[in-house]
Amino acid sequence: MGTLYEDIVDHGGEVFGKEHMETLMLCVQCGKCTGGCPSGRYTAFRTRKLFRMAQEDMREEIFNAPELWFCSTCFTCYERCPKGVKTTDLIRVIRNLAAKAGHMSVPHRMIGVYVLKTGHAVPVGEPQMKLRKAVGLDEMAPTTQKYKEQLEQVQEIFRTTHYDAMIDFDWNTMNLREAEGDEKK
Ligand code: SF4
Ligand code: SF4
Repeated sequence: MGTLYEDIVDHGGEVFGKEHMETLMLCVQCGKCTGGCPSGRYTAFRTRKLFRMAQEDMREEIFNAPELWFCSTCFTCYERCPKGVKTTDLIRVIRNLAAKAGHMSVPHRMIGVYVLKTGHAVPVGEPQMKLRKAVGLDEMAPTTQKYKEQLEQVQEIFRTTHYDAMIDFDWNTMNLREAEGDEKK
């Protein structure tokens, strides 16, 4: 394990290319990202602060703060940054590193539960089924939620990549295996 910056470049470089990730060090703390961040208007999440902390190798502080998971990946900061910092992609890579180190937020882990159970991050529910029926469609769309064999293929991907272990998924209860005190959302 190197510095957080080195890990970001190594890990994120595999997906985005190293130069993309190296833009972290171009951040001059101008604050245009934070100024336009819709999440920052309602939460304690501060994009500029995150990048400063990442430059300063404050791995544990970043990973242990719930704010890391408050970014909605809207890409507003990505478009606003005057220095070409690949903001949103950097945040996603930092989250990946945090998740690998066991720090994924419960709501994000629950999204994984939905995908494992149905193949959808947002499963089709009663209201959607009623609506589909009202307009003459089958209640259930022809997706993994309807076809068990297809869902099993999705579940196999999760097993193969060990994503189930990363979110601490319990195949018996088809839910999170919670540590005491955790709250499912
Ligand atoms: S807009 Fe870009 S340069 Fe300015 S603080 Fe945000 S990431 Fe840094
Ligand atoms: S991508 Fe995330 S950090 Fe950037 S503006 Fe949107 S919510 Fe804020």
